[in-house]
Formats: sequence, structure tokens, C-alpha cells
Amino acid sequence: MVGQANETFEKLIAHYRETAYLRSIEGLVTWDHMTYLPSKGVDYRSEQIGYLAGLIHRRRTEKVIADWLDELVNSDLAKDPNSRSDCTIREIKRSYDRSVKVPVDLVEEIARVGGQSHVAWVEAKKTDNFTHFQPWLERMLDLRRQQAEALGYESTPYDALLEEFEPGETTERVSSVLEGLRNELAPLVAAIVDSNKTAPCEIIQRKYPVAMQEKFGKHVAAEIGFCFDSGRLDVTAHPFCGGAGPNDVRLTTRYDEHDFANGFFSIIHETGHGLYEQGLPKVEFGLPPGEAVSLGIHESQSRMWENLVGRSRGFWQHFFPSLCEAFPEATAGVSIDEWYAAVNDSRPSLIRTESDEATYNLHIIIRYELERAMIEGDLSVADLPTAWNDTYEKTLGVRPDKDSVGVLQDVHWCEGMFGYFPTYTLGNLYASQMFDQANEELGTLEDAFANGEFRPLLEWLRTKVHEHGQCYSPSEMIQNISGKPLSHEPLMRHLKTKFGELYDLS
Ligand code: ZN
Repeated sequence: MVGQANETFEKLIAHYRETAYLRSIEGLVTWDHMTYLPSKGVDYRSEQIGYLAGLIHRRRTEKVIADWLDELVNSDLAKDPNSRSDCTIREIKRSYDRSVKVPVDLVEEIARVGGQSHVAWVEAKKTDNFTHFQPWLERMLDLRRQQAEALGYESTPYDALLEEFEPGETTERVSSVLEGLRNELAPLVAAIVDSNKTAPCEIIQRKYPVAMQEKFGKHVAAEIGFCFDSGRLDVTAHPFCGGAGPNDVRLTTRYDEHDFANGFFSIIHETGHGLYEQGLPKVEFGLPPGEAVSLGIHESQSRMWENLVGRSRGFWQHFFPSLCEAFPEATAGVSIDEWYAAVNDSRPSLIRTESDEATYNLHIIIRYELERAMIEGDLSVADLPTAWNDTYEKTLGVRPDKDSVGVLQDVHWCEGMFGYFPTYTLGNLYASQMFDQANEELGTLEDAFANGEFRPLLEWLRTKVHEHGQCYSPSEMIQNISGKPLSHEPLMRHLKTKFGELYDLS
């Protein structure tokens, strides 16, 4: 019996490794699409990507997988929870069951309408016309509700959609953590505004030649541990981290000669994602033990390197001299205190992607509450723009005067990605909770950063997060690391200390 189960397990793995070739090719052509593809090549590339996506979906839902899984779930290979074999069987079963529950025509309809809805959203955003987008958003909402019904859920259809991005997490738990966060964060942001203290942002907007920004960014990414023999950095419109294989991680950023922070912190953010990808077990590439756990945990890695490391005083104690050497004109006469204040400027704003470490999470909480209300039928799409504007005014004290800088700013809803937004803030919460624990186990990390020592933190993340792939769920992982369930407290402690000092709050 054992011999036969092993044989079946090998067949399952071989099948998934072959699918991994296709997925990594899809990753490569998608990366090329976003970076170097000539504009006239877009139509054929979209066909290539669509073809690959269909091929991958068909392979993942082949009936033979169900037969193999039936045999394997009760075998000894699935007996030891969190072992490599148990993880492989459990996670392949989870994704297989999810994909066969949704009828194929619904899957195709979501893809087809999603593409058209995306086009409508681009046009609506350009012309500031929400009404143009409204019927498409209504359609996407309806399709995702149908998908949630097909998938099944316990208390709210939002649970079924959240599961796609943050496996094992529930709406109830996410709501309770985000509510705790909002109750403490809103007063902190109000206190920052009331302080009337402003950061010397002008420093960041001086002239930073793009070629030097790239050189400096690569230097920092390499120093914090990114291996450029197993990855590279290129330019795109919306920065992301992609990949084409276990030793091929593609970082992207964008540069603005008069906004140093935009390009630099995108590099550090994507490097955080890239360090995670480079730390996953290479022999398991394409299999659950070699894949990231969830979007939230992935984001915890990027946010940790971007904010908790890259925007810390210790980090700049180490890098400020080389920054001044790279940009002698822009940094002339600037002190490290001024620089530290400038890269940590905090103020309420309208655009999520341009917001700072403190206010960012309020942008997410607003979106989470609105999308949940839409999915649960408590908010109609027609009422969404007003609800959006009112909530911004109430929560952040700013009100958009047009929808392009309000409800139309993000791409997520047009593609029906409901349940995605909370993973950004979950990432910040996981990051702070992990970072607190790392500080406890490794000593004061800021002192290490000031000495240019980033390896201890990276090695710690390798053993606590990266090398486990999907062996533990996000909530098990944070419990294993910190001994506690996820809480808003570590993030709030960090924000209160940092911004309390920067904005003279008592
Ligand atoms: Zn990210």
C-alpha cells in the first residue's frame, strides 16, 4: 500500500512540475508584457497569455488529479501535519476542490467580462465618468457573488472570496483586527494633522538623475540580500515582482527624476517580495512547499523591508553617506534628521498608492468596508461614489472632488478582485508582529542596520517564513513565530513611537 501511495504521489508531483513550467513561462511573458513589449505586440501577447492561462487551468482541473488525491488523502503521506508531503496533498486538494466547484462557463464569463470591465474602467477613469463604469462593476459584483455561492461559505459570501487571497482567514477575524486598528489609528492620524508640523519634503523633490537612482537602488537591494545572479531589476509603469523560475526573480520599479522616494521605496518594497521568492525552497519550485503562503504574508515581507527597515533611522545611518555621495547636489546641506523626517512625511491624502506608512491602512480599511457592504448587498454600486467620498471625509478628513482621484483610482474592483484589499493591511500587521519578535530574538535590529548588518534579519525570515512554503497557514505561521494570534497592537506601537517622535506628539 505504502509503495503504491508513493508511486501515486510521484505522479501528482510530476504533473505539477510540468504545470510549473507553463506557469513560469506565463510569468516570463507577463513580465515582458509589462516591461519591454513593443506597443503593437500587445494583441498577440494577450492571446498568448490567454492561451497559457486556459492550458494551466485545464491541467489543474484534470479528473485524474481527483483520483490521485482520493488515494493520497488517507495515506501515510498525509498523516504528519505540516510535513512536505502533507502540505503538497492538502494544498493541491484545496485548490483543486475550489476550482472544480465553480462551473467552467462562470470562470470563462468572469475572465471575459473582467477584460471588458477593465477597458470600461480605464475609459471611465480617463474621462472622470463613473456612470460609464457602473454597469460593468454591477456585472462583476454579480458574477463574484455567483462564484461565492458556488464555492460555499459559513457566514458571509465575502469569506469565500477572501479565501482565494488569504487561505484560512475569516471575515470575522479580519474585521475584528481592522476595527481595533482603526480605533487607534484614526486618532493618531488626527494628532499628526493637529501637530501642524510638516516634513521637509522639498528635499526629496530635488533633482535625482535616473541613472544614479537605478545604481543606488541596486546597490541597496544587493546589500540587504537580494541576489542579482538570481534576479534583475527593470522599469515598468506599475511596479511588481514577478518570476520565471527558482533562480530568476524579476523586480520592477519606475523612476521620477524629481521624486526620489517613488523609485527608491518601490525598489525596496519589491526587493522584499523578491527576497521571499529567492528564499522559498528551490527544489520544491511550483509545488505548495515551494510557494508563498498568501498575499498577506508576501506583503508582510515587502512592507517590512520597505517601512520597518528602509524607513528606519538605523537604515539611513548606514546608507546616508553613500546617498550623499551618489547625489551630492540634491543632498547638499541636508542633515540625516531632515532626510529621515522627509522620507517619513505623513499626511492624509486622496490616493492610496501615494500615501504614507500611517495613513495607508485607513485607505485600506475604507475599501474593505465598502467592498464587503457591496458583496453582502448592503451598498448598491449606484450609491458607491457618494459612500466613498463620505467615508474619506469622515475617516481621513479629505473629500475627492472627482471620481478619478476617488472611487475610480484602483484597478482591483474592475477585475472583480473583492477580498484582495485587506491583504495589504494584513501584510503591515504581520510585518510588525514578526519584526517585534525578531527584535526580541536578535537584539535591537536598528543598531544592526546602522552597522550595515541586514543578514541576521534576512536569515531569521528565511527560517521563520521563507523555507516553510505553504506548510503552515498564515494564522498558524504568525502564531508559531510570535506565540500569539494576529493583533493590531505591534503595528500601532510602532506607528505611535515613530510618528510620536517625528511629530512631537505627547
Ligand atoms: Zn507588494
